[in-house]
Amino acid sequence: MWFRPEREAPPTAGLPLGITDLGGEVRAPLTALAAQWLGVEEAQLECSGTAALTVALTALSGHARSRRDVVIPAFTCPLVPLAIRRAGLEPRLVDLRAGHFDMDPVRLAEACNERTLAIVPTHLGGRVADVATAKAVAAATGAYVVEDAAQAFGAFLDGRAAGTHGDVGFFSLAAGKGLSIFEGGLLVARDDAVRDSIRRTSRRIAGWHPGWELRRTLELAGYAAFYRPRGLGMAYGGPLRRALRRGDLLGAAGEHFGMDFPLHRVGRWRRAVGARAFHRLPLFIETTTTQARARVPALASIPGVHVYSDDSGTWPYLMLLLPDESTRDAVLQRLWASRHGVARMFVHALPDYPYLAPMAGGDDVPNAREFAARTLTVTNSPWLDDASFEHVCAVIEATVVSRGAPAYPATGTVTGLPSTFA
Ligand SMILES: *Cc1c(COP(=O)(O)O)cnc(C)c1O
Repeated sequence: MWFRPEREAPPTAGLPLGITDLGGEVRAPLTALAAQWLGVEEAQLECSGTAALTVALTALSGHARSRRDVVIPAFTCPLVPLAIRRAGLEPRLVDLRAGHFDMDPVRLAEACNERTLAIVPTHLGGRVADVATAKAVAAATGAYVVEDAAQAFGAFLDGRAAGTHGDVGFFSLAAGKGLSIFEGGLLVARDDAVRDSIRRTSRRIAGWHPGWELRRTLELAGYAAFYRPRGLGMAYGGPLRRALRRGDLLGAAGEHFGMDFPLHRVGRWRRAVGARAFHRLPLFIETTTTQARARVPALASIPGVHVYSDDSGTWPYLMLLLPDESTRDAVLQRLWASRHGVARMFVHALPDYPYLAPMAGGDDVPNAREFAARTLTVTNSPWLDDASFEHVCAVIEATVVSRGAPAYPATGTVTGLPSTFA
């Protein structure tokens, strides 16, 4: 008898690879395709989004040696402060707006001064951040803006690609973040001089490393083989459920990170795989956007549940705010270990990661902690079929209802949420 694994949905909508991506002709280099798609002159490839940020900050710090602080939201990927430290700089945390993923503009302005090298507005989970405010604060203090579009390749903001509004922008090509070469990152810069220095910095700190490239090559081959409905149970679901049984939340979310992340050049085969898959990206984004638009209303109609939405972002998953932490946890108790792609985004606000040393501003981030405690994500992978999505909605609704009337006002009236996000 053949063992036939069950279907499993991935936690984010990654672009699946096909056999034809693995060999054959390459019509244009990955960086040229990305630059054209983003509407910029040039894009630089690094071995991860984290590496791209490290290279960018190292280069920028050479232009402004007295500026050592990098200002970031207190809820973001824990790799971001690790990259800042790896570049020899100091993260400075800014609390979020209440009930929102973006930095509080007042707190942002307070955090910036003549020591600020860069501000990092972050397009979280494909939702677009307020880059204009970050740019205004940066202009007033002489800082750079580095847009974190790691999760937003293909999103737009005011008619231009998200990630191209700041001085520098970066995107992740990691497994599960849209287009993937298993680990990779793209870097864009507006200014010729900055572009030149990030190119030189990359040559200096991210040289050829055959051991890492061999490892990533095998991982990308594994990704191509297992990133499919009946492969994910083994490659993703099994390790996830084992981590949850151990009570290892960071393991379940894939967040055991350290300062020693690799910095190296991406090899030709992986670049070619990304270039061959690229032509399917526009249709994939269109499909996942249509699916998300169709699915947001069902989740948003559950009393006390808020779904983050906008008109021009991308949709790796649907990001939900639950009435309170215990309701969120009760939902995850029933769904995180299921095969339906329900997960947490980042487990903690940044000050609460045991492996991150204390950071400036970290003692006063109540909104970031609240956001970490009350949010969860529902995959927007096309492999979560309608019946499974309806099941997820039903479980969330039953859990919220069984816990009584929401302790918080219903959708659209949550304090601090702008009406455009209702
Ligand atoms: C994933 C992520 C990063 C880091 O990108 P990698 O390619 O995984 O190194 C940075 N910022 C955010 C918001 C992310 O989600």
